[in-house]
Amino acid sequence: MLNNSYGFSIWGNSNFMVEDGKICLNTDFKPALIDIVKDLRNDGYMGPLLLRFPHLIKKQIVEIYTNFERAKKEFDYSGNFQAVFPLKVNQYPGFVKNLVELGKPFNYGLEAGSKAELLLAMAYNNLGAPITVNGFKDKELINIGFIASEMGHDITLTIEGLSELEAIIETAKERFTPKPNIGLRIRLHSSGSGIWQKSGGINSKFGLTSTELIEAINLLKEANLLDKFTMIHFHIGSQINEIHPLKKALTEAGNIYAELVKMGANNLKAINLGGGLAVEYSQTKENSERNYTLREYANDVTFLLKSIANHKKVSEPNIFIESGRYVAASHAVLIAPVIELFSQEYAESKLLLKEKNPPIIDELYDLYKNLKPANALEYLHDAIAHMESVLTLFDLGYVDLTDRSNGEILVHLIMKKSIPMLGNKQNFGDILKIQNEVQERYLVNFSMFQSLPDFWGLKQHFPIVPLDRLDERPTRSASIWDITCDSDGEIGFDERTNPLFLHDIDVEKEDYFLGFFLVGAYQEVLGMDHNLFTHPTEATITLNENGGYEIKDIIEAQSVLDILEDMDYNVSDIQEILNSRIEESNLVDEKQKKHILGELYLFLNDNCYLK
Ligand SMILES: *Cc1c(COP(=O)(O)O)cnc(C)c1O
Repeated sequence: MLNNSYGFSIWGNSNFMVEDGKICLNTDFKPALIDIVKDLRNDGYMGPLLLRFPHLIKKQIVEIYTNFERAKKEFDYSGNFQAVFPLKVNQYPGFVKNLVELGKPFNYGLEAGSKAELLLAMAYNNLGAPITVNGFKDKELINIGFIASEMGHDITLTIEGLSELEAIIETAKERFTPKPNIGLRIRLHSSGSGIWQKSGGINSKFGLTSTELIEAINLLKEANLLDKFTMIHFHIGSQINEIHPLKKALTEAGNIYAELVKMGANNLKAINLGGGLAVEYSQTKENSERNYTLREYANDVTFLLKSIANHKKVSEPNIFIESGRYVAASHAVLIAPVIELFSQEYAESKLLLKEKNPPIIDELYDLYKNLKPANALEYLHDAIAHMESVLTLFDLGYVDLTDRSNGEILVHLIMKKSIPMLGNKQNFGDILKIQNEVQERYLVNFSMFQSLPDFWGLKQHFPIVPLDRLDERPTRSASIWDITCDSDGEIGFDERTNPLFLHDIDVEKEDYFLGFFLVGAYQEVLGMDHNLFTHPTEATITLNENGGYEIKDIIEAQSVLDILEDMDYNVSDIQEILNSRIEESNLVDEKQKKHILGELYLFLNDNCYLK
């Protein structure tokens, strides 16, 4: 990444382009992200910003439908294709409302995994578009599913275990018509791959074994509900990074489908493959996370299901998918300002050299003064070794605090001066190794726990790119520090997995923003209020007809009082206590009391991020 490409061609999917050193939307009029951010900051929205781009939601929906329609044509496939969006991936209104609207022409539906998600789907799903319900269900959730069907929704309740089926049969006796369709989640012996693979496989938390499937068919027959059984379902896990396990799962599912049809399940028409389409998050080829394209996925699914159906002489099943990550990830970009570079305090003006310095300090000074491109790598190595010696000498009492400070300043000055000299000419491996030792720490105004929880929990990489200066070579190997007090809030420079280089900037003089990309799936709702940092201020960016953009639906980050209220504090208590403590303090001047009370009031009503 020394050549400042930031891997756009790997993860970017042509959504962005670089012009005049700025990241721009790759649309007709190419608005720069930094201009959008400046607009928002001029309106007073400081701190981290989450930008949503509905045109990128639309792009993913269109890609999915066109690829499957194309594959169907190519293989002369007679079943149809349908998709739903799994709400657990992103339930935020700024996303869901746009998704539903944009999905309307495709009859794109929603998937729900809990009562809350189902009720949300019933309110927002386009009538006539499918709803599927997965996950564990009690009688109450099943009842809500029946209500959805009575309201006119095309809903399929997928059974995870036989007790759920029994509850459905019971409910069916009590409720009105129309009744929901029934799906059976099958337990596969083939499992997925990657870090989320636990959802598939024979030991999976979900699904019916073959014995239970036979039992389910019999129960449905007895209850006269077999005609409501329309779908089998599986989900081998999220972020499937290779296609092979999916093909194995599909082969198994295709055969189960054919067997169940032969057992008399006449209305069984669909195989629901769940989600799992992977997103390429990597910024380097070596760490790529996916070995297939959507085109290949659609082709494999269609071709395989056709072969099995033809072989077993049953009709080709309708194909149903529930991919969420693939649809949602790209629509959101988190943008956060850099507020400090840790080594910035090491300026030449702060040197306090003595008449007579310890020899090692004089040597460091000479290295600094005589540094040139030809010796940069060597001198940098020497400086790092000298730094260790200075610290040892300090511990042993041979150099004093001023010497130590001079040593630290000189080593950082040597780094700053030598790194741009290293260029790309020298051995790249050597440079990466040295960069690992001389990382600059960028303090960034955001919370990793709130905005990139999968980095914290799973070490999931998200592309990181500065919003501007992309026409200048970034020289500093960077580790990113968030503003929580938690040492886990760090994305370290890693020469192998995260060789991130950023620019050497003076934050006193210039703004520098980092974009964290592909954060639209899972991150928002998994984000946690660690240190009471809340969901960042969000805004939706729509493109208008005359080529400009419009900033809409701004939702400001929660205030301190709001978040304390969410935690069930009585906020008027808090205000009263603060008030009376000021009253009882040693301040005598009433004006002063009023003044600090006013200040506190402002802080309580503002959010927690740094200004
Ligand atoms: C989580 C989940 C999905 C979505 O998975 P993605 O990897 O986001 O595509 C789909 N179906 C079911 C049943 C799920 O649990």
